[in-house]
Parts: sequence; structure tokens; C-alpha cells
Amino acid sequence: MTRQFGLIGHPLGHSKSPVMHEAAYKDMGLDAVYCAYDISPQELGNAIRTMKVQGIDGFNVTIPHKVAIIDYLDEIDEDAEAMGAVNTVVCQDGRWVGKNTDADGYIESLLPVVSDQSLTGRRVLVIGAGGAARAVIHALGKQRATISVSNRTAEKAQELAQLFSHLTIEAIPLNEAESTLGTYDVLINTTSVGMYPDTSKQPIALDRLKQATIVSDLIYNPYETALLQEAKQRGNRILNGIGMFVNQGALSIEHWTGRKPNRKCMERVVRMHLT
Ligand code: NAP
Repeated sequence: MTRQFGLIGHPLGHSKSPVMHEAAYKDMGLDAVYCAYDISPQELGNAIRTMKVQGIDGFNVTIPHKVAIIDYLDEIDEDAEAMGAVNTVVCQDGRWVGKNTDADGYIESLLPVVSDQSLTGRRVLVIGAGGAARAVIHALGKQRATISVSNRTAEKAQELAQLFSHLTIEAIPLNEAESTLGTYDVLINTTSVGMYPDTSKQPIALDRLKQATIVSDLIYNPYETALLQEAKQRGNRILNGIGMFVNQGALSIEHWTGRKPNRKCMERVVRMHLT
């Protein structure tokens, strides 16, 4: 029987998840479909009831439902609990279990570009304090990194530092982040600054960047943001967000099927569909 997977969110716009997942299923020889369901917050309860009746096998959850979905689940795993957000639901034997693959998805993309593949004790500056920053900070915490977080709205960075106070983390103002930039091993942009169509913007000035710092941006449209382009020109190692996107999707598939999809094939399809 054809397995049913999908995505709920609002607005879904031009989500690349359906093409990425269906390419993976085809490559795996898996008889499955992946449908995108644009569901507003007001429709969430009804939509969940319909999905339960229809018997979906698993689904991804994106903005704005990552927190609200928790009320409809039988259980959530440790990562989802720590982030207070779910991006993957496994539906098996009538039980709905919430997971979050964003943190592991991100770290799987970052570790290969870090020397010794270790972040223990490394100084990492995270710009931004939204949902993506939570996933990145949780992931960095699992790797025992030393974290500074900085955001346009400073109070939100302070709230995040408080939420993750069991980690080595501090909130700092953006001007301090810029003036101490030379002390960091990794710089990560988790804001939407620089995303298509407003591609000329940068979340932080790079004047004090040292050449050994890895510069990572969660955005992958454009494929290289203005931040990454400048860092590359300065001779720094750069990492865009496509790896995180592919890995979080691949990890969802692993939870649903117990099988590892071909990440290279998934990435190729996402790149083909970028604007
Ligand atoms: P979010 O929860 O809405 O947070 C947005 C963040 O961006 C906040 O820190 C916000 O600062 C900041 N920001 C927005 N506009 C800004 C501006 N003009 N100047 C300075 N800061 C600004 O969104 P999110 O879910 O964290 O997503 C953030 C980005 O990560 C998006 O570009 C998204 O596409 C990307 N992302 C990528 C992946 C992936 O798989 N690669 C996964 C998740 C997210 P304030 O608090 O001051 O508003």
C-alpha cells in the first residue's frame, strides 16, 4: 500500500520539501507520496482530526505549527522537548510521536567542515533568536560549544540564553558581537537577513572577522548570501543552509521508514528548484 507522508504549515509558498522527499522515495524505490497541506492556525484542530481518520504514516511540521502541534501528540522525544518544538511526527500503531530533526540536521552539516569534527570548547557566535536559533543552540549545546547569542531585539537573545542556561551560553549586544568577532571559531547567521528577495542585506559587519572563522548561514536561497560571499572573499570557509535542510528531511525519512535516503540526490533536486 502506498505510504502517505506530508507537511503542514502556513503559508507554504514554494516549499521545496515535496520535490525533495518524492525524489528521495523514488531513489529508494519506496512506494510513498508526500503532500503539502497549507493549514492556518484556526484550521489546525480539524486538520489533525482528518489526518487521524485518513491514517497518515508521518508528517513534517513547519511555521507556525511547530509548538501548537505538541498538544495533539501522544509523546515527544528529548530533542523536541529541549527545543519546545516539533518538526517531525511519526504515526505508528495509532500513536503520534513528535520529534525534532533540525538540530541534528544542522550539526551533521557543520561538523564535516570543523577541524577534528569537534566543537567542544569552541567559541560560537549565533546571530538571531527565533526558532532556527533554538535548534542551532540546542545542537551546539550537545557538542559542548561555548555559545554567544546576539539579536536585533536584544531581549529575545536574553530569553534564549535563559532558556538554555544549562549550557555555556551568554547573550551579547550586536555591537559587542561585531567588536569581538575576531575571537570566534564559528559565526552562524540564523536570521532571515539576506534571504531572497532582499539579498543585499547582511546581519553583521565582518570587519573584525579572522580568517580561521567558519561562517555559516542557515539561508540557502540565495545559495550564497551576501554574508557568505563577503566571508568567502576574505578567504574564510563558508557553509550555507542547504545541508541542514536536506539533513532534517533525510532524518525525518529515517524516523518514518528506518532507511537512509540518498542525501546527494535530495540536495541535487533542491538546488534544481531554487529560484
Ligand atoms: P523566526 O523565528 O521568525 O526568527 C527570525 C529571526 O530573524 C529573529 O532573530 C529576527 O530578529 C531576525 N530578523 C528578521 N528580520 C530582521 C532584520 N531585518 N534585521 C535583523 N534581524 C532580523 O524565523 P526562523 O524560523 O528562526 O528562521 C530564520 C531563518 O532561518 C530563515 O531565513 C529561514 O529560512 C532559515 N531556516 C533555515 C533552515 C534550513 O533548513 N536551512 C531551517 C530553519 C530556518 P527579531 O527577534 O529582532 O525580530
